[in-house]
Amino acid sequence: MDSRQTIEIRVRGTVQGVGFRPTVWRLACDEGLVGEVLNDGFGVLIRTTGNSGAISQFLTRLRTEAPPLSQIEGVETQVLTFQDFQDFRIAESVSGENCTRVTADAAICQACRAEVLDPTERRYGYPFANCTHCGPRFSIVNEVPYDRANTTMADFPMCASCTGEYLQPADRRFHAQPIACPICGPTIWLERMDESSTSNHLRATSALNSAIEMLRSGAILAIRGLGGFHLACDATNPGSVQRLRRRKHRYGKPFAIMARDIETIRRYSNVTTAAAKFLQSPEAPIVLLPADGREKLPEGIAPGLNTIGFMLPYTPLHLLITQQIDQPLVMTSGNISDEPQVTSLDRARTGLRGIADALLMHDREIANRIDDSVVRIVRGKPALIRRARGYAPSALPLPNGFEGTPDLLAFGGELKATFCVVKNGAAILSQHQGDLEDVSTFEDYQKNLQLYSRIYDHQPRLLVADMHPEYLSTKLAKQRAQDDDLPLLEVQHHHAHIASCMAENGVPLGTQPVLGIALDGLGFGEDGTIWGGEFLLTDYQSCQRIATFKPVAMVGGAQAIREPWRNTYAHLLAHPGWECLVEKFSVLDLYRYLLTKPLPTIDRMLATGLNVPLASSCGRLFDAIAAALGLCADHALFEGQGAMELEALAETWRPSSADESYAFTITERADGLLCLEPSPMWETLLEDLKQKVPVARIAARFHFGLARAIRNLVARLREMNTAATGVTTVALSGGCFQNKLLLEELVRLLETDGLTCLTHTKVPSNDGGLALGQAAIAAARHREGLFLECGGLTPLLSK
Ligand SMILES: [Zn+2]
Ligand SMILES: [Zn+2]
Repeated sequence: MDSRQTIEIRVRGTVQGVGFRPTVWRLACDEGLVGEVLNDGFGVLIRTTGNSGAISQFLTRLRTEAPPLSQIEGVETQVLTFQDFQDFRIAESVSGENCTRVTADAAICQACRAEVLDPTERRYGYPFANCTHCGPRFSIVNEVPYDRANTTMADFPMCASCTGEYLQPADRRFHAQPIACPICGPTIWLERMDESSTSNHLRATSALNSAIEMLRSGAILAIRGLGGFHLACDATNPGSVQRLRRRKHRYGKPFAIMARDIETIRRYSNVTTAAAKFLQSPEAPIVLLPADGREKLPEGIAPGLNTIGFMLPYTPLHLLITQQIDQPLVMTSGNISDEPQVTSLDRARTGLRGIADALLMHDREIANRIDDSVVRIVRGKPALIRRARGYAPSALPLPNGFEGTPDLLAFGGELKATFCVVKNGAAILSQHQGDLEDVSTFEDYQKNLQLYSRIYDHQPRLLVADMHPEYLSTKLAKQRAQDDDLPLLEVQHHHAHIASCMAENGVPLGTQPVLGIALDGLGFGEDGTIWGGEFLLTDYQSCQRIATFKPVAMVGGAQAIREPWRNTYAHLLAHPGWECLVEKFSVLDLYRYLLTKPLPTIDRMLATGLNVPLASSCGRLFDAIAAALGLCADHALFEGQGAMELEALAETWRPSSADESYAFTITERADGLLCLEPSPMWETLLEDLKQKVPVARIAARFHFGLARAIRNLVARLREMNTAATGVTTVALSGGCFQNKLLLEELVRLLETDGLTCLTHTKVPSNDGGLALGQAAIAAARHREGLFLECGGLTPLLSK
């Protein structure tokens, strides 16, 4: 009896440009099926005839043996009328509406790695080897569909050998768009800055050898990589590291390190299994690791910190360089001050002159700048600090209930900005753009908005931005709304943070509100004050503020971010008060330090209320504590520097026990909000300083105290606030949750109380994840019909 039938299989997700069709072809041949596979506007379409056992085996293997870079989001099958085929073949693509994905760039795969290091292979020593399982994708795309002609590989016609591989379904390079070899592909060369003439530039192997020799002897090199230029030097050479800092004018921020292999990294850090997995993943991010190995890198690598960001070589070029050098290399982004990473040859020649001793160049143009991603491992899971190379622009599926969401555009925030395109129900979060207050970063952000619009053929019907009137992204969104006559929704900053955490955790639309805890630096509050330590009863449509950190003056506004001592002073004035400080704590260095500051001016500002906005900010509380302990009290070189150093200090205090925590109090304000008051904490802290308790212990007590205080506040809210009584889920978001010590301890405590904790693992908890939350809120509001009613430019405030 013949049980053969014909079925149609539709595969959706990231399935194009990742070697999916050859895999289908191989599996179908294996299972003795006939039929065809093709790409169309919706993904991959398979029509196949065979007996039902073979077909079901084929469907199982399709999932378990899918190519490494593919992401299957759905497989649907339907039975067709019986159709016989001669064989199984890869058919011509059918173009349709473009709603498929652009794949993220992927680190060199094992097969290509082996090939590049094998002297018998024709790609031996070739810095641009790649295949369908690895190599450049998003960084070289100019247009869709993703064909060679629409990438920066268009300039390199394939040679006969490459063409053969490209056309052979059994080959690893079948339809690998960036396929290249030494005959037909891009090349490298070295330009030394001390040579005026360009005629004697070294090319290919001699360029590589000469670059390696320079690195070994302590020189600084600018290296054109995948998504931009790096500045590289020997990370174990303190002189080179200092010279790089001086030339780059980068004094505070830590440098990322690239090492040849995991074994080399193990000299400096006890790499856990989870960490090794992320280091070796196709995303190949920078992983923040504890500096707890046998050997130490110079202090100049990560000043004041006890973690070091390591990554493994992720392109053949990086592989070929690091193979020849025993030492790990600094591999920091090649930019000028706060500007975006340099991508073009010309900008490198003008901008990086004076920083680098030589430029290692190549002629494969970078279409899209993309920084290295940064990941921290918290409770065995990734916490993305910066989401860029390897991750963006992978689509994030929106949770159940968001089906049929209209195409929209979320503009994100101001610092660590990203934007989010929603198209056909999937959210595409852009790569990290940087801080928009830098002019060239803002220009780049606008350029990328256009690029995404072109690549995704995206015409938004709704726009959404932060509520902050001064954010450049908000101003741009307002302009765009006016020009294109589109409705614009302005969303409260911390609502967006919590919604972002809910969305990436797949919380369906319409579920019970969660208790959102948003801890960050600053966000514009609904009451016009600055928020940053908020407890919000949140669903996608709305959020209700039910508790907050005690607001404290930010003396001089943004100046308080740059000069953390201002926060310490404002906190101490609020409690225990200046008189008490004079009376009881005048022996403290802290007191004498504050006396060196222009306190009368500050007091006048506070008295007149001029430029002293109130902020219920957790980030500023961290700054205040850090500065009180003498950590970057005068100047923070970047936002959060004090908090990072405070955490690093606390980590050195081991073992920490439950009694190692400062007490906070909870008060009820006139408006009914519960308020987390740090006053008792400050008293004990000052007393500890007086008793000369080690500052590391003080830092630990603050961290554990804050976690406990938040836990107590949550318990009180569940007892007192009728709306919060039934809450079983807590969502944690905001930049302060990049603090591993705080996050791990708080999650532990909340889980002990029987609560489910949602944390970020796919998008950053900092403002880099904001746009996803904005998009989810806009989609939910639109569904409720809350959106279009307000129309035009009128902001619709959260309830
Ligand atoms: Zn490969
Ligand atoms: Zn070739």
